[in-house]
Amino acid sequence: MAETTTELDIAGRVAYFSMEMALEPAIPTYAGGLGVLAGDVMRSAADLELPVIGITLVSRAGYFKQEIGPDGGQIEKPATWRPEAHTRRLGAKVAVHLEGRQVWIIAWLYFVSSVRGASVPVLLLDTNLEENHVEDRTLTDSLYGGDAAYRLKQEAILGIGGVRMLRALAVKIRCFHMNEGHSAFMGLESRRVEPKARRIFTTHTPVDAGHDRFPYTLVTQVLGDYYELEELKELGGSDELNMTRLSLSLADYVNGVARRHAMVSQRMFPGYEIKAVTNGVHPFTWTSEPFRALYSRHWPGWSHNPEALMRSEQLASEDIWNAHMIAKAALIRLVQARAGSQLEAGVPILGLARRMTEYKRIDLLFRDLSRLKSIANSHPFQVVLAGKSHPHDAGGKRIIERLHQYALALKGSVQVAFIPDYDMEVALAMVSGADVWLNTPLPPHEASGTSGMKAAFNGVPNLSILDGWWLEGCIEGITGWAIGNDSQATDESHAASLYDKLEHIILPMWYRDRGAWVNVMRGAIGRNANHFNSQRMMRQYAAEGYLL
Ligand SMILES: *Cc1c(COP(=O)(O)O)cnc(C)c1O
Repeated sequence: MAETTTELDIAGRVAYFSMEMALEPAIPTYAGGLGVLAGDVMRSAADLELPVIGITLVSRAGYFKQEIGPDGGQIEKPATWRPEAHTRRLGAKVAVHLEGRQVWIIAWLYFVSSVRGASVPVLLLDTNLEENHVEDRTLTDSLYGGDAAYRLKQEAILGIGGVRMLRALAVKIRCFHMNEGHSAFMGLESRRVEPKARRIFTTHTPVDAGHDRFPYTLVTQVLGDYYELEELKELGGSDELNMTRLSLSLADYVNGVARRHAMVSQRMFPGYEIKAVTNGVHPFTWTSEPFRALYSRHWPGWSHNPEALMRSEQLASEDIWNAHMIAKAALIRLVQARAGSQLEAGVPILGLARRMTEYKRIDLLFRDLSRLKSIANSHPFQVVLAGKSHPHDAGGKRIIERLHQYALALKGSVQVAFIPDYDMEVALAMVSGADVWLNTPLPPHEASGTSGMKAAFNGVPNLSILDGWWLEGCIEGITGWAIGNDSQATDESHAASLYDKLEHIILPMWYRDRGAWVNVMRGAIGRNANHFNSQRMMRQYAAEGYLL
């Protein structure tokens, strides 16, 4: 890095390693929440001028671009991008020995900039080099693509290659942050070469299948005897290499991404101390233009210090409502353009977007179509949906097909639109243009959830299951509404609670008491957005995790 800027030669940086990172809409190096969070980490680090450097893979073919076939089938297209158009190639080159071959790695340098002008660097690692065996050239192409060997090699490139790249660039590191178990090899490699540095680990999912595991035969096939098998087994599990366990064993500080998630993780991994740093979202990125303008008029510098939003009672009701109606009009235009359906501004919109996978229970809303029709009969409403399913998740793809069937079945009664290719831009349009943000995961599987926090920045109240961040953010009737209560956990009781709240509380308030409604919008801004943001989150990481 000395070759690029001396600015980086300070007391030492925090190296933030993440398999995916949502840097900007035009760079498709992310699949979903984990990558968006990693991007928000970097954006807040830039805002707060924290000495952080990001390390990720270049993912030249992105995750994928989603199209939807006539029957609701997901079609996956590569989302290729050209790093040379957005980043600068650095001269340094390092190698990792994988499956008996040297795999050479270079880095592309990107700067994440704050609206105030400060910036933090990100290195995107790339193996697409002539000197590499043809097979190895594509190792950094597909995010979460390929088989177990491909994934293991990607994790070795990220973890081992990333640490080597930082050393080749002479970037001094005081703390290594493993974002999810994908970067566990960074823990091992950094311990070897920087034994005194601090290591921290953030775990992101309480879903068992979300933790990467590799059989030791594969580990030996790919990495040879680079690591002592006995040591690996001691740190990462005796039967198979569990990347979460490996990260836990190597970290000086471990955290989950919400209080409940930290508790659940603690039960999954007894013997490790797991703290909580509840996620947050980047204020400027996740606030629509009309609300940015409104906040700036009242509290200059709000996006840097979003605690200012605590004073949301200073916002005039008509200003909140007008800003919302501008954002809603933008969503209606996007739905028209991308999904070909015409929504109405005078009818409330329920927004719901997530990764399409079973535990997220996207179709809870559609459990009883006749009940939905009868609710819509007295208080009409519309639904906007989006979300990708992992290409190998057959169950997830069936959910998307079912959503299309529900939309057909509800035709004439409830307008249901599905926007294909959920990405950062679609997300901002949805979280700001919906009237209510819905989230219905099966507890305790939602580690945190962040789209509801984005909604709060846009004055959009949540209607959600009490899980993840919503356990901390929900003040009933003030910031939004809870579906069910903590102890009842059947699909049926959750659906009943969802329908009851819509029918008896939410929709009647929307139609008949605009003043009360805007007060809930104000509550979402003043009591959710003021806290569930990545400035607060990064200050907490800096003070408790990084010890900056
Ligand atoms: C915010 C965001 C997510 C994560 O939202 P959750 O509520 O945590 O599921 C996923 N994908 C995109 C594109 C996002 O912007």
